[in-house]
Amino acid sequence: MNEKIDQIRLLLTTLENELENDQGKEFSKNFNVLELPSIVSSIVDFLHPLLTQYEISIYWYLFNKSIVKTGEQYARASTRSMSSIAKSTFKTSAGLSCQGTQKSINSMIEKEVLSSVGDTTKAGTLYKVCIPDEIPICKELMKAQILEEEQSINLETELDFYNIAENRLKIFERDGYKCHYCIKQLTRFSASLDHIQPVSKGGDNSFSNLITACLHCNSERGNKPVMDYVISRAERKQTTLFEE
Ligand SMILES: [Zn+2]
Repeated sequence: MNEKIDQIRLLLTTLENELENDQGKEFSKNFNVLELPSIVSSIVDFLHPLLTQYEISIYWYLFNKSIVKTGEQYARASTRSMSSIAKSTFKTSAGLSCQGTQKSINSMIEKEVLSSVGDTTKAGTLYKVCIPDEIPICKELMKAQILEEEQSINLETELDFYNIAENRLKIFERDGYKCHYCIKQLTRFSASLDHIQPVSKGGDNSFSNLITACLHCNSERGNKPVMDYVISRAERKQTTLFEE
């Protein structure tokens, strides 16, 4: 009994694996002309740094034969045709024998940039040309770049323009030493810094969250939202005009 169950399990696993493989083969994205510029730019940014010059020339040859010409990711090509394209690109024969070309192709298959799909005929082997979004090593590079960008943004917001004296002056200079609310001309001694988003509400000491204010306006505003304070000032001005 147990043996039979084991056999069934084995069959199921094989079936599952076959299904997965079939789905992989069936995956064929039809590319749209509008997507091309962003794909090309991601290839230049994230694939070029990971390939040799020979691999790049072969990749573009297959890319043109597949995605550009048919909108599909599959192209059939022979090692001989790829070898001659690489030769004409570099105007030299060094290292571009059929053997060298095959080595470049194998290296790209290893990097999961290309995969050979099934049979080889007289016309060559059918390759699937992957785009950076699908290539593991490109995805890693993309992730690293996003992380780097995030870190540089964090660094900017971490810069303290409130507690560091020379940074405070940068805000005053940006605002021309004028109070943001009453437009009074101030000096470096009478000017103060006001947080647009109060610290108590999560505001930081970044360049964009600080404005110049006179001490009077600064303390009168307190923790009120900037717009509320500006409106209440304008209303007060109107009523005093009426009273006059
Ligand atoms: Zn003021």
